[in-house]
Amino acid sequence: GPAACDASRSAEPARTDPLAAWRLRDEPFYAPVAGEVALFEHAWHHRLPLLLKGPTGCGKTRFVEHMAWRLGLPLVTVACNEDLTAADLTGRHLLDAQGTVWQDGPLTLAVRHGGICYLDEIVEAHADTTVAIHPLADARRILPLERTGELLHAHPDFLLVASYNPGYRGRGKGLKASTRQRFASLAFGYPAPEAEAAIVVRESGVAPAIAERLVHLAGRTRALTDEGLDEGASTRMLIHAGRLIGDGVSVLDAARLTVTQALSDDPEIEASLQALAEACL
Ligand code: ADP
Repeated sequence: GPAACDASRSAEPARTDPLAAWRLRDEPFYAPVAGEVALFEHAWHHRLPLLLKGPTGCGKTRFVEHMAWRLGLPLVTVACNEDLTAADLTGRHLLDAQGTVWQDGPLTLAVRHGGICYLDEIVEAHADTTVAIHPLADARRILPLERTGELLHAHPDFLLVASYNPGYRGRGKGLKASTRQRFASLAFGYPAPEAEAAIVVRESGVAPAIAERLVHLAGRTRALTDEGLDEGASTRMLIHAGRLIGDGVSVLDAARLTVTQALSDDPEIEASLQALAEACL
């Protein structure tokens, strides 16, 4: 499976390499869509903070994993949500037998030791959090740690990457201009149909002919986003369908579970999606 990097792996902190838990062991499979690999490398060369824009499940996270592996950098991923505070990113004092000790948060670890800090779905984070990254995301490249009084200058190998789903803007989740303008943006879409089918085959093991039909269905759902659907079926959903089909689940049941019932809670929309699935699969 993909070499995902997450905090759950870091049971015991390594003394020698504080970022050991965040290093990728195997090459994450990534099928390039356009020139994004070279563009990322240029942004990296100039240490430009990067915003990966695009719908959910289209490959943004896999891309940044792949780039971290290519560049030999640790990848510190933070899934943003509304409860995420600046302290969750920067660190906090913890109690131990000797008293209190400072523990770097994920952002501080990457800033101090070098590596990519990936803020997944940055708009979900509390506004204070985005302001905390501003001095890091401009020419200053500094992180003031108010609680310790430390002014941390970013390691030369530090790179800030964030992902953002423009489709959620309608729900009032936009990005402030002051944040947005600090980042260079790479727009992501779903891969072209043949490429997407190949990804679904590779990731789920489903037969190519079925993958093609799933991709066709996804394309039809993506055209429905003006009619009550927030977003069409993602590549991720198709991979999930493919895995169930590999287990012997019928194609329609798999699509029902992973696509049509997953996309909407509205019974009418769900029914028309299932009709679409019957027509496409
Ligand atoms: P996002 O971060 O955009 O929400 P992910 O990167 O998690 O989406 O992509 C979802 C899944 O789709 C990945 O786990 C991977 O299996 C697959 N995927 C999407 N695009 C690609 C691609 N270009 N190359 C390889 N796998 C991809």
